[in-house]
Parts: sequence; C-alpha cells; structure tokens
Amino acid sequence: MENNLKSILAECGFGFKKKFGQNFITDKNLLSSIVTLAGVEEGDTVIEIGCGAGTLTRTISEKAEKVIAFEIDKDLQPVLARTLAGRDNIQVIFRDFLETDLTELEKQTGKYKLVANLPYYVTTPLITKVLEQSGLCESLTVMVQEEVALRFCAKENTSDYGAITAVIALRANTEIVKKVPRTMFFPRPNVDSAVVKFTIEDNRITVKDAELYKKTVHAAFAARRKTLENNLVNGFKFSREQAQSLLVECGIARTARGETLSPVKFAELSDKIFGMIK
Ligand code: SAM
Repeated sequence: MENNLKSILAECGFGFKKKFGQNFITDKNLLSSIVTLAGVEEGDTVIEIGCGAGTLTRTISEKAEKVIAFEIDKDLQPVLARTLAGRDNIQVIFRDFLETDLTELEKQTGKYKLVANLPYYVTTPLITKVLEQSGLCESLTVMVQEEVALRFCAKENTSDYGAITAVIALRANTEIVKKVPRTMFFPRPNVDSAVVKFTIEDNRITVKDAELYKKTVHAAFAARRKTLENNLVNGFKFSREQAQSLLVECGIARTARGETLSPVKFAELSDKIFGMIK
C-alpha cells in the first residue's frame, strides 16, 4: 500500500473491518483503468458505492463533474477528510447504500454511472436493487470476486449460468472488462477479482410481466438437476399436462433443464405462462 495512505490510516487510528469487506486499492494504473473502463467522461455524475479510503473516489473526481460516494463505515470519516481534501466535486454520504431510497436519490442526480468495489455479499443485492429500481442509471462498473463475475456474465448451457444471470440479462448487457489479481488489494483477500460492466438497455428483452419472468427463472433453477417440466410443476403448481403444453408451445424438449434456456427463451416461456394464469 502507498506509504502516504498507510500513515493517514494509522494516524486516524483506522482498523480494517472484515465484516465490511474492506480491501482497498491504491495502484494508480488500476484506479485509472477502472475509471476508463467505466466510461466516465467530463460532465458525468458518478455514484460510487463503498468509497473506503477514497482512492477510487478521488480518481473518478478528476474526470467526472460530480461524485456522490456512499460509505457504510463512519470510522472512515477522518480518513476521507484528508484523502479527499481539496476536491470540491465529491459528496460523501455515510450510509448503507442498500437502505437508500433510489428514487429520492435520483431526484438530485439526473443520469449517472455507478462504480463500486464491494464485498461479494453486498454485490448481488446492490445490482438487483439498481436494476429493479433505477430509472436513471446508465451503467454499473463493479469489482467482484472472479467466480461471481463469471456467474454474472455466463451463457446458457454452462455451469456458471444461473437464475441471477438470467434475471440480470433482462435489463443489462454484462461483460468482464478486467481481471484483477488479489495482490492488488490491501489487505490481500483470499480470492482474485474481476471488473464487470453492466450496461443498462431499457427494453433489452421485453416481457409481459417482469415479476413473472423472475418467478419463472427462479422456478426453473430451483432444483438444477430436475427437468424444467418438473420444476414448472413444482414452482407453479401446474398439472403435468399444463407444464407439457407450455413446453410444446415454446418448442422446448420435455427432457430440457432450465440451464439450457437463454434469457430470450425464458421471456417467451414466461409470456406463455402469463397467458395461462392471468
Ligand atoms: N472503493 C475503495 C477501494 O476501491 O479501495 C474501497 C473498497 S472496499 C472493497 C469496500 C468498501 O465498501 C468498504 O469501505 C466498506 O466499508 C464499504 N461498504 C460495505 N458495504 C457497504 C454498503 N452496504 N453501503 C456502503 N458502503 C459499504
């Protein structure tokens, strides 16, 4: 870790907290490349989740017009007062982002890009929250542990493909834009990471009912080893005849498993279910 930051943390009496997943980045090349990969441009408003000691926050603020940074740990307040000193386009909010009302927040942001380097247990709720509730977010550039990144970006018929992949695909295109070894963090975590870019595309896949799409996907993956037909019978309490006729209408084999369906095929199936139950 950069000596300057090390002494600031020591002088502020800061102790790293595992429960908040505090692994900081100081490498200037890595910080700049995250900002570039996030597509941050002059005039942009960026929301950063989990600003830690502010290294990424500061780098973003050198490009963006405005940065709104969330941090759950108030003990970082004296650290950030020093590391972000002199930057007048950064607003730090000490709050759990997951508890934040996005609609209220968006009243003051206009369109924005979201950037985050977060512990794995916050990442999925964060992405789900933004994809479901945001009206103004253009993209999310998020550092996650590598195996989670593979799940977010998986294609059908692979072991990484799951309910979360298909749910995300409804609203966003995903891409692993950078792999980051564990040696780039302080303290060093036990896993390697990757930066995933989620580009939000409204009406990417259109469905009659987004909640029903999610229910269909979750039912299909409820028991991975079971056939889709069995999972539909269990998940929706369909009769076997109903489940079979849905599969026939969608041109899906009776022996197919959920993981063989692309997000577009899931959309077709959920729309047929809509016609059957609504
Ligand atoms: N962005 C910094 C960096 O790249 O060096 C810090 C990254 S560190 C992996 C994650 C940060 O997110 C920690 O400072 C942690 O306290 C904060 N954090 C964890 N959960 C959070 C939440 N729900 N809302 C806001 N911040 C959170």
